[in-house]
Amino acid sequence: MIKDFIYDDFQNTVSEVLICNRSVLDVLSQIQEANARLNRVVIRTVTGCGCLKIQAGKKEIPSDITLADLKKFLDSHLLGEMCEDCRDAVETAIGRLLFYLAALCNLLDLNLYDILLKEQKQLKILGIYNLA
Ligand SMILES: [Zn+2]
Repeated sequence: MIKDFIYDDFQNTVSEVLICNRSVLDVLSQIQEANARLNRVVIRTVTGCGCLKIQAGKKEIPSDITLADLKKFLDSHLLGEMCEDCRDAVETAIGRLLFYLAALCNLLDLNLYDILLKEQKQLKILGIYNLA
């Protein structure tokens, strides 16, 4: 399967190019930094560029709906679409986070693709009851 190869190739490439931050302490702190950077670039789409807007308020959810209907009453609170520059910045930040997650997998002798498969299997088993 080609996707299997892509994930393994990515994880191998991370192992080859990661030179300076090989300590688990460095990798864990880099994951936090990459996550903070991702949060920052998403926020900048609203506060810096303005291509996205946030409109949020108290959720009004009827008490008699089913779990399956809950989706209809919840939204992202986002309005608009990311411009090309913001999309590129968000994708770059997600890529950096994936890089350090792959690095952590390497240090812990875990396979990123196996983790994705395991998570997907769990999601399919639990369906809407995963409560994510
Ligand atoms: Zn933008």
